[in-house]
Amino acid sequence: MQFSKDFIQKVLNATDIVELVSEHGVALKQTGINFKGLCPFHSEKTPSFNVNSQRGFFHCFGCKASGDSIKFLMQIDRLSFTETVEELAKRAGIPLEKNSAQTRRQSSEEEGGLRCLREAASFYRENLSGPVGKIAQKYLHQRQVSENMSERFQLGISPDSWDETLKSLKQKNIPQQIIARAGLIKSGEKTGNFYDTFRGRLMFPIKDVRGRCIGFGARAVKPDDKPKYLNSPETSYYHKSRTLYGLFEGLEDIRKKRRLIFVEGYLDVIRLHEHGFTETVAPCGTALTPEHLKIVSRYADTAILLFDGDTAGKNAALRHAHLLLPQSMESYILNLPEGEDPDTFLLIHGKEGFEQLLERKVPALDYLVQQTINKFPDSIQGRMQGLEELLPTLNQIKDPKRQQLTLTTIAERMKIPAEILSRELKRKTNKNLRTEQENVMLHRLPKKTTISQDEQWLLQSLLRNGQLWPRVREHLKPEEFKTPHFHRLYARLLQLPDEAFQAFDPLKLEESDPELFQSVMMLLEEEIPIHDFGLSLKRIKERNLEIEYQQSLLHSQNNEDRAKAGAKRRNEEEKLKSLKQFFQ
Ligand SMILES: [Zn+2]
Repeated sequence: MQFSKDFIQKVLNATDIVELVSEHGVALKQTGINFKGLCPFHSEKTPSFNVNSQRGFFHCFGCKASGDSIKFLMQIDRLSFTETVEELAKRAGIPLEKNSAQTRRQSSEEEGGLRCLREAASFYRENLSGPVGKIAQKYLHQRQVSENMSERFQLGISPDSWDETLKSLKQKNIPQQIIARAGLIKSGEKTGNFYDTFRGRLMFPIKDVRGRCIGFGARAVKPDDKPKYLNSPETSYYHKSRTLYGLFEGLEDIRKKRRLIFVEGYLDVIRLHEHGFTETVAPCGTALTPEHLKIVSRYADTAILLFDGDTAGKNAALRHAHLLLPQSMESYILNLPEGEDPDTFLLIHGKEGFEQLLERKVPALDYLVQQTINKFPDSIQGRMQGLEELLPTLNQIKDPKRQQLTLTTIAERMKIPAEILSRELKRKTNKNLRTEQENVMLHRLPKKTTISQDEQWLLQSLLRNGQLWPRVREHLKPEEFKTPHFHRLYARLLQLPDEAFQAFDPLKLEESDPELFQSVMMLLEEEIPIHDFGLSLKRIKERNLEIEYQQSLLHSQNNEDRAKAGAKRRNEEEKLKSLKQFFQ
């Protein structure tokens, strides 16, 4: 959607930028006509983030971020321009422009993709009540999912065939290219023929907050069908790190209750909604991210995270407590009794039992401190080790008041003098900048802007074509990857035995190395353009050569050094020329 200049101006005029910035966790203090605070876009200890309320803009003298309310919201919540204007209009109670002023020129691809998914959702839904749907109906019956919930969440089934979905969508005049980009079909490696991605699976349409279907979660219902869940790929409208299952369905209630319950699976969400806990959501095929929390903090003040009672659940709870602490929402952790998940618990204990269980929720901070203390021996040394684990999280709390309060609480619980804690935190802050690079998380793909596309293509091709491995192994060292994430991933892959690549089956990694598995699956999920593998390899090598050359120039003392560097580069370039043919 495109907005008229007048409309945008009207929305901007109606938005109090000081209020907007404050709502996003930045504590502002008035100094003259300006307001000042700690910049949310870079890490700093003295405030250099200025907000001018009258003129409606912000500026950071530290990182030079600046702009109006729209720019602020786009950057902090990572929304698109359209989403931001809509959000601000909603916030100010201004109805959106209709018809005349509204030139409907949303990118045609996005519109096509969304239409394709909408058609697919109703195709899957229709199939559920037909003969094709029997197996899914049986499954839903077994899991005691009511007709009501099936309707509320628009569940469906994808036919157990190679091309029914494709045919049905083509009949509705949706181009093959768009169906492929929406992730509903894939092309065979050798034949290049397209086939349905989801076959014989229970389909959970995933919706954005506006109720548009932006992807699917697909659960296996046939015995031995693997993996258990398949997910739609990320697209320009489906960002997994920002999407929550059940949020659209529960949004009105969430706004009223100002509370959210987080669970892990689609069926858990449905079970809780069924019992009246309509404020329940779950991430879709990814772990919960700070972005998720930031988004829901617009609708709710309290978050309760539910975890299974087993060891894996407890570990996950602890990891998430770290994630919750820096957020402004009041957050709680709740471990279910050993051996139960939300689904089974509700089936056995019902609504009342669950209400009682909710009473036993523990504030995330208490949970974090208690579990961390338990991990280490009860000695000064043990407590200092525990402290080491807590400091990075404490350091992420941006609001200084909240940070101080949390620090005092931790000091009290851990019986460590607050001054020592404060000193340790300062020491950590200075070190933090360096460790950030080392803490690359394998299970989340880095942001598009920070990665090398060639490196990503190369890895994707490798994972899809096992024959390339032996040669690539010989020619490409992990350190030649400049994206830290890919560097680590490639190094980890190299540790696998040669046989693993002949017919590379990522599912085999699921148990042995879950982190690597997730990371590999994420790469495999994305559609990659048809491209020349050897060319990518060559470009990576050329790029590295250039970096190396520039560096030797930088360190060269005299002409002779520079001549040497040049000669070396020419020599390497010659070698590279043969490389491309070699890989074809
Ligand atoms: Zn800044």
